[in-house]
Amino acid sequence: MAIKQFPSTKKITSFHPPQRTLLGPGPTEIHPRVLTTMSQPAIGYLDPVFVEMMEELKALLRYVYQTENALTFPVSGPGSVGMEYCFVNMVAPGDKVIVARNGVFGGRMIENVERCGGTAVVVDDEWGKPVDPHKVEDAFKKHPDARILAFVHAETSTGAESDAKVLTQIAHKHDALVIVDAVTSLGGSPVLVDDWKIDAIYSASQKCLSCTPGLSPVSFSQRVVESVQQRKDKIKSWFMDMNLLLGYWGNTTRTYHHTAPTNGLFGLHEALLLIKEEGLENCWARHRRHHVALKAGLQAMGLKFLVEEKYQLPQMNAVLCPAGVDEGAVRKSLLNEFNIEIGAGLGPLKGKIWRIGLMGYSCRPDNVMLCLSALGSILMDMGLPIKVGEAEAAAHQAYSSLHAAEARKKIAAA
Ligand SMILES: *Cc1c(COP(=O)(O)O)cnc(C)c1O
Repeated sequence: MAIKQFPSTKKITSFHPPQRTLLGPGPTEIHPRVLTTMSQPAIGYLDPVFVEMMEELKALLRYVYQTENALTFPVSGPGSVGMEYCFVNMVAPGDKVIVARNGVFGGRMIENVERCGGTAVVVDDEWGKPVDPHKVEDAFKKHPDARILAFVHAETSTGAESDAKVLTQIAHKHDALVIVDAVTSLGGSPVLVDDWKIDAIYSASQKCLSCTPGLSPVSFSQRVVESVQQRKDKIKSWFMDMNLLLGYWGNTTRTYHHTAPTNGLFGLHEALLLIKEEGLENCWARHRRHHVALKAGLQAMGLKFLVEEKYQLPQMNAVLCPAGVDEGAVRKSLLNEFNIEIGAGLGPLKGKIWRIGLMGYSCRPDNVMLCLSALGSILMDMGLPIKVGEAEAAAHQAYSSLHAAEARKKIAAA
């Protein structure tokens, strides 16, 4: 019998991706230490050595989430799976959930509530604005039977940050739990699970944690764990059923549930260790510092931000595309001429903004300078009145001011 040769498979050789500068909404560039760790030999997912690593991984996740929650572990799958994990375990048929929507990901939460058989009460805010706590308060007054409030802490589609602490307080005042999307915030800006009393939260490995995609760290408070355990109905997903997953990730047992993505988990362990070594606060400060420098450069080019300053996320910069400029053509030139990837606008912001991410290992001064220089030269070629080097000079100036302020603080503290 002749082996079938599919014409399209004849020319296939090993795949070698180009070296890109990743400044989009994730994935990010990956630290060489994480990549090296991931190419280590395969190991069984119940090997005692691996099990020991799992415990460290959980401890590191508790550190980045700033929580004592026993149930803190990475679900196998991208951030979307972490989102589904929270909803499918916490939302029973007939439950009423208030969902705040100020971008793409709030919309996905509504979809999740409905697929779990719940009713979503939607609180809409304009894209680019944070979630308005007053509107959430009003929604609770109109729907006192709402059991859960779900919102996105850092809306990646717009670059706006909402006040997770205040929103959680409102939910608790009305005896409801919160589900928080921290996919883009975790590691890039403060996420204080215990301090803010967040009930359930999820994130993803490829944003500010700067690992490969495919893992979604989640954390449930004891109150949530108990409420899921008390459910009388069967959780609608076998794979994401918290009770079954705990058989593998829990503290007491280690039995087969699914084959954990071992090498990916080595990578996440290393990526979290890098954050631990840097120090969580220093990591947040680094994201802020490079955001300030990038912003100074972009503003020197005459570019404006979508989001009002006090709600701007350092790790996700939504920049308005100037009138008359072909947004897509700029991104194409950045990729083809400079190997730089930035993000496009989504939904109502399509064609109107660029999304420049400074996340995790991608958040470095060389990337800030490269981005300003490349974007500046492309816009200049398109006829915008930009002078060579002005954006870079403004960014350098911003770095100097920050360094000087830092030095003054040190002297004052000494
Ligand atoms: C990226 C992102 C997600 C989805 O994560 P995936 O890993 O792409 O599935 C969810 N919420 C927010 C806020 C995100 O930025």
